[in-house]
Amino acid sequence: MLRIGCLLLLSALPALSQSPDFDILITGGRIVDGGGNPWFVGDVGIVGDTVVYVGPPTGKQGKKTLSAKGLIVAPGFIDTHSHGRRGVFEVPTAENQIRQGVTTIIEGPDGSSPYPIKPFLDRFSKVPATTNFGLMLGQGTVREQVIGLKDRKATPEEIIRMEGMVRQAMRDGAFGLSTGLFYIPGAFTPTEEVAALAKVAGELGGVYTSHMRSEAAAIVDAVKETIRIGELAGIPVQVTHHKVIGRANWGLSKETVRLVAEARARGLDVTIDQYPYTASSTGLAALFPKWTRIRPRPAGADARRNRYRH
Ligand SMILES: [Zn+2]
Repeated sequence: MLRIGCLLLLSALPALSQSPDFDILITGGRIVDGGGNPWFVGDVGIVGDTVVYVGPPTGKQGKKTLSAKGLIVAPGFIDTHSHGRRGVFEVPTAENQIRQGVTTIIEGPDGSSPYPIKPFLDRFSKVPATTNFGLMLGQGTVREQVIGLKDRKATPEEIIRMEGMVRQAMRDGAFGLSTGLFYIPGAFTPTEEVAALAKVAGELGGVYTSHMRSEAAAIVDAVKETIRIGELAGIPVQVTHHKVIGRANWGLSKETVRLVAEARARGLDVTIDQYPYTASSTGLAALFPKWTRIRPRPAGADARRNRYRH
């Protein structure tokens, strides 16, 4: 009898102490775990700043329990194409992002970034930002520093200089190289020159993302070029904000998506991201011929210009 009494007491102990298993327990939501799996109803347990449980309903306790019934529970979204490099200092809480579930932003798209990137990242590290932040190195920024806004090929010496700048930026923490081949001076850059710089980024673990030369009538050639750069440089490539502009061109996405699928079947790491809306936007100046866009920029123009790229 005594033995049975002890067993009863032991089994009762956890219930008596009832210390919560998690700081926060999110119950009953549809969990989309980001791994490509179908959703399931379950719980998410958090201790400190770490997710320690994702799975079927646990029946365990949280210091704080949130019911997510009827809602979707997912990891934070990544905005792979952000122009928030000014805004993140002005509004570090980034509520426009956080309230949409975006917890990581990737800046430096469209070939435009701060350079050198280290002082920028150092400055950012002192900001109490609520989002994670990653930075791409802009090929247009690098080219402008070495060649200016001239419509010509780079010399071998200039390519070596630009490769050195990419190497330095990658070591300073860049996630990879971005181009804006639709913009100036990206539009003056031959494919092989982009590939030479992308190769350096790839060797140091980076990715290549491109606002392509065309997102309208010549989009099929632009996607072919993007894939070719990935092949030449041995780097994962991403067609950023993929879209087909102009009613006359609608339907070309069947061909572009087929090209991407084919490249993936060959073993290339090619991906696409897109806007979550059916519009397109950029600065009005982008609609004018390239030669009209070659002009000296006043001090501070980079931040303003960056706002109008998309
Ligand atoms: Zn863009």
